[in-house]
Amino acid sequence: MLIVMQSQASDDKIKKVIDFIRQKGFDAHVSKGEDHTVIGAVGKKVIDKRDIELLDGVKEVIRISSPYKLVSRVFKPEDTVIQVKDVKFGGGHIGMIAGPCTVESYDQMDATAEKLSKCGVKVLRGGAFKPRTSPYAFQGLGEEGLKILREVADKYNMAVTSEVMEVSQIPMFLKYVDILQVGARNMQNFNLLKSLGEIRKPVLLKRGLSATIEEWLMSAEYLMAGGNREIIFCERGIRTFERMTRNTLDISAIPVVQKISHLPIVVDPSHATGLRDKVAPMSKAAVAAGADGLIIEVHNTPETALCDGAQSLYPEEFSDLFGELKMLASVIKKQF
Ligand code: PEP
Ligand code: MN
Repeated sequence: MLIVMQSQASDDKIKKVIDFIRQKGFDAHVSKGEDHTVIGAVGKKVIDKRDIELLDGVKEVIRISSPYKLVSRVFKPEDTVIQVKDVKFGGGHIGMIAGPCTVESYDQMDATAEKLSKCGVKVLRGGAFKPRTSPYAFQGLGEEGLKILREVADKYNMAVTSEVMEVSQIPMFLKYVDILQVGARNMQNFNLLKSLGEIRKPVLLKRGLSATIEEWLMSAEYLMAGGNREIIFCERGIRTFERMTRNTLDISAIPVVQKISHLPIVVDPSHATGLRDKVAPMSKAAVAAGADGLIIEVHNTPETALCDGAQSLYPEEFSDLFGELKMLASVIKKQF
């Protein structure tokens, strides 16, 4: 249920409404918009909506039948802009994240980050805990990988994102990373989502391999219900009958999500296609379709990469692409 307050409603009136619904057993989530404050009342209890309509300062009470509430534009009509250092995602800003699939060594990260930083990339990616299909494949360097990622990022004044795989790893991640990534395989790990709802750092929520957009929105709802407001969706391709690409990039998810939700959505063309030569065209398509950001795999020597070399760009290719994307963004009146 959403409670829209009158535009002139005082803080005191807003507080009284919040106290009232809390006392009735609901959680209150407040969104202060330009015109009105909206209070999202979330809970399983039954309440007569007229009891709220009669409270001082209340304009209207809307029952929401859709299962996602806090992620929806009904709760917050304006775009949510997520800022990490001076990079913004959403509200006309396109954020760029780049880096290798996996942290392999200090030298590999340093060589890649140096080149990315020269191109103007400010958010570095690199997996330290890898969800590999085969138990025999490289599983990542673990905490050592996070330390390297942080050290290298600090050297070039960058922020970092890395994938967290389980609840017990969260405190460790909070020490090293600026954006916690939830991988496609964990999109419906509800315990992980609940715990990440309690932290106050941005979460990059990848779409599950065969998740519908509604299921994806519901996973974001878990994070927001816990109080975390900084969620970035990431479309990384879904599994279809097509075998020519690793996954099928669902470009239409961008406008679909943006219509329903105020949260930003970025695109991962690397995992979506699995092929280096498909990354540039799909990145351009994503920007043209209105994506709020991109996350692209780049490796200083992709032929030696321990993971996903075939889909990783050479730094020079990335540099050319980023230049083209900036031009494209200006055409649609957005900026990196
Ligand atoms: C990754 O970003 O390294 C990754 C494993 O992606 P996904 O969860 O989308 O497969
Ligand atoms: Mn990868």
